[in-house]
Amino acid sequence: MHLELSDDHKMIQKTVREFAEKEIKPLAHEIDQSGEFPRESIRKAAELGFTGVYVPEAYGGAGLDHIAQTIVIEEISRVCASTGVILSVCTTLFCDPILRFGTEEQKQTYVTPHARGEKIGCYCLTEPQAGSDAANQKTTAVRKGDCYILNGTKAWVTNGSVADTAIVYAVTDPTKGPKGISAFIVETGFEGFKVAKEEKKMGINATATAEISLQDCKVPAKNLLGEEGIGFKIALRTLDDGRVGIAAQATGIAQGALDEALGYSQERVQFGQPISNFQAVRFMLADMATEIEAARLLLRRAAWMQDNAKRYTVEASVAKLFASEMAQRACHKAVQIHGGYGYSRDYAVERMYRDQRITEIYEGTSEIQRLVIARNLLST
Ligand SMILES: Cc1cc2nc3c(=O)[nH]c(=O)nc-3n(C[C@H](O)[C@H](O)[C@H](O)COP(=O)(O)OP(=O)(O)OC[C@H]3O[C@@H](n4cnc5c(N)ncnc54)[C@H](O)[C@@H]3O)c2cc1C
Repeated sequence: MHLELSDDHKMIQKTVREFAEKEIKPLAHEIDQSGEFPRESIRKAAELGFTGVYVPEAYGGAGLDHIAQTIVIEEISRVCASTGVILSVCTTLFCDPILRFGTEEQKQTYVTPHARGEKIGCYCLTEPQAGSDAANQKTTAVRKGDCYILNGTKAWVTNGSVADTAIVYAVTDPTKGPKGISAFIVETGFEGFKVAKEEKKMGINATATAEISLQDCKVPAKNLLGEEGIGFKIALRTLDDGRVGIAAQATGIAQGALDEALGYSQERVQFGQPISNFQAVRFMLADMATEIEAARLLLRRAAWMQDNAKRYTVEASVAKLFASEMAQRACHKAVQIHGGYGYSRDYAVERMYRDQRITEIYEGTSEIQRLVIARNLLST
């Protein structure tokens, strides 16, 4: 693994940073306040290949690697965490499981338009009673002729109220526990698929998080992903990829907070001098920079393992755990450096402080990441 980015990766970083500064940053405050899903930004991101960075070109993607994906999500999240996670979900939680487990027809029909950004995807695993204990699924899928009939409720679905297609997990055999769960590709226009509620949240306000109700939702049998009974395996495999995406989101938010704090500390004058002259402020900036660098290296290691076809479940958890808790510390310091202004909605660090919080919760809480890491240490 090279610690330096290759020339190609540096070029991608330059391109995405320019795009983020020009197209995404100017809208970040507005969509945070309005909660409007940034459709036009996603369309523009798609033109540059950011909706399917590592999806093969044959299926509408940019055909790049996972390191490139982390660069894109980090740079977008540096200026807007909502747009960053929307893009991450489209690729890591939607396209990835179909690429890995889907039939050729499913890849052509579903991956291609989503990787091109013509359609939006989402991932429906969580249920009201099944959060960390994701295997405790109550949604059922019963085979009837050439269809499955799905019934149940899915909670906290990112992109849920705007998505065109969802990966839905449901129980096909209640006698088999996790091995009785299957995964389905469900078009949101299928009869019985309904957005029940849009969630009002602390942060990432533009991500269209929704509760989904499935009432006799009729799904063609050919939309079963993989085989019956391997749904939970698909869900966990998908989360490995998703967690690297959230580590990239958290690292980007923290870098954005550091950039804001650096700028502000050199402008704000107290006691006749910029506050950046004070050692207490310098130490906060130094700690932020050090931790961000450490998170980025963990993130790149996980992505490098993906690119080199190595098992990376633990590395994904390590990167997500450290990056998300690091982002919490970095955003806390950035608000502190801004003093009272950091508490105002007029300053970006206030939004970053709220947006960061979710990175410690979704795609497995910090406690669940620690369980994964400890299980590996103890081999239990
Ligand atoms: C904004 C947002 C977007 C989301 N997007 C999606 C999405 O797109 N798709 C999707 O399927 N889900 C999504 N989720 C759901 C998310 O993944 C869950 O909220 C998360 O996994 C935690 O589940 P829970 O909220 O039910 O908390 P719980 O599982 O009830 O956990 C509550 C607390 O108990 C702790 N805890 C639970 N079990 C253990 C244990 N064994 N050991 C130690 N501590 C434990 C947790 O760490 C936590 O601190 C989203 C959630 C939010 C808030």
